[in-house]
Amino acid sequence: MMFPMFKQLIVQMFRKPFTNPFPAKYAPKSMKKFMEDVEKGKAKINPPVEIPDEETFRGRILYDRDKCIGCQLCIKVCPSKAIEFKKEEKKIRIYIGRCIFCSQCNDICPTNALSMGNEFLLASDSKVNDELVVE
Ligand code: SF4
Ligand code: SF4
Repeated sequence: MMFPMFKQLIVQMFRKPFTNPFPAKYAPKSMKKFMEDVEKGKAKINPPVEIPDEETFRGRILYDRDKCIGCQLCIKVCPSKAIEFKKEEKKIRIYIGRCIFCSQCNDICPTNALSMGNEFLLASDSKVNDELVVE
């Protein structure tokens, strides 16, 4: 019983870790300072892993306003209430900060106005960041 566990332990000790250290190869004392150093060119970002399948990946939602007919089906199916209806324009606004990337809005949209993009680096220290609003 002990032997298979011991063998597994030894194997694991010499395997490369599966996790990808991102954005820094070694955890910095302050992530904020690290990101400031990146902007100044003093530090380098350790690249994220590649997207496994661009066709099925669920990243930041893309919205084609011209295709949108204002049917609001996306709003009805959104489990996290991330989509708001803009009455005056009969268009929608999506709050990416609330989105859980389930793709239900994308699946139900009758005009293919919505699609799941590939962008996944969406972390922000501000909830009201304009970049996290799609309209
Ligand atoms: S992907 Fe899901 S959570 Fe995000 S806006 Fe669409 S329905 Fe809502
Ligand atoms: S389901 Fe599609 S067409 Fe209908 S409101 Fe949403 S984005 Fe527009």
